[in-house]
Amino acid sequence: MKAKFKTTCSECGAPIKVGSEIAKDPAGKWIHKYCSPESDQLP
Ligand SMILES: [Zn+2]
Repeated sequence: MKAKFKTTCSECGAPIKVGSEIAKDPAGKWIHKYCSPESDQLP
C-alpha cells in the first residue's frame, strides 16, 4: 500500500514519504515495502 502520511521506517530509520510503498512489520510498525522481509517484489 502507499503511505498516506509522513512517518519513519522502523527498519532502516529513514523517513517514509507520502505516496511511498510501505508495509507493516511484525510489530505493526510502518516500514518501507523494500525493508519488509516478507516482500518478494524486489525492484
Ligand atoms: Zn526502510
